[in-house]
Amino acid sequence: MLSYRHGFHAGNFADVHKHVLLACVLAALTRKDKPLVVVDTHAGAGLYDLHDPQALKTAEYRDGVMRVWSAPHPPKALSPYLEMIRTLNAADGALSLYPGSPTVSRMLTRDQDRLIFNELHPADHGVLRANVSGDPRVAVHQRDARELPKALLPPAIRRGLVLVDPPYERDREYRETLDLILEAHGRWPTAVMMIWYPILSAGRHRGLVQGLARGGVKALLVSELCIAPPQTPMGLNGSGMAIINTPWQLDRTLADVQPWLHACLDPQGQGASTLEWQVPPQAG
Ligand code: SAM
Repeated sequence: MLSYRHGFHAGNFADVHKHVLLACVLAALTRKDKPLVVVDTHAGAGLYDLHDPQALKTAEYRDGVMRVWSAPHPPKALSPYLEMIRTLNAADGALSLYPGSPTVSRMLTRDQDRLIFNELHPADHGVLRANVSGDPRVAVHQRDARELPKALLPPAIRRGLVLVDPPYERDREYRETLDLILEAHGRWPTAVMMIWYPILSAGRHRGLVQGLARGGVKALLVSELCIAPPQTPMGLNGSGMAIINTPWQLDRTLADVQPWLHACLDPQGQGASTLEWQVPPQAG
């Protein structure tokens, strides 16, 4: 069953949180000249037209990227993300295109880097393929993400990042995601891994984060941005990202970025933003 379509949610507050973090991690990893590889296990379509009927139906981007892109005095670490959105929309100056994670990775990496994008949904896979065609750094796959560790890891370039961003349509996806990450980590222990999760009233994300912390991973940093109290029934209350092998000083960067981002995305202050080491670097 593949009913989730990211086009309905593109540019919402959770996408902004996720992609700002991705941009900050890529900035940290591209500081050294050495090549890196990005593996995106649930890549989506890659690029979204916010005037498309899918995006307009829910218009979630209005409470997401729309709030951030014109807000005054953003922290400096947000510049790569904001510049990327401006570059994509340079033609008419208005906000109409939003980058999915593959476009973020493409725009914020270099010639020497390699990008592996996987998307199972046939329609989104086709759009993704078209969106990245002509970029010699990219390989596109259409597999069940659970097959990826065995099929693709570790890659030939041993420095890199795995982004895991499932739709969590069914409860068992939390367990499957944990299994996927621990298998991927076992095969490629030095990779930075970013695992996105939704914060819903059922609180199933807590088992996922605890499972990671008990799974023997190093330097596990957890960033959560809530726009409503976590117990609020119905709806997406918050966005979470767990980062394994967190790059050096990323916690400092995010401590600077997150309060500004939260104030922008939750102007009524109904939720909260937190940043916590679940496994501190020195204890890993
Ligand atoms: N990472 C994307 C971004 O930030 O732009 C969004 C990804 S969206 C949250 C999740 C994607 O996973 C959907 O496009 C969905 O079709 C895909 N998907 C669902 N089940 C999958 C599976 N078992 N293997 C690979 N992809 C899957």
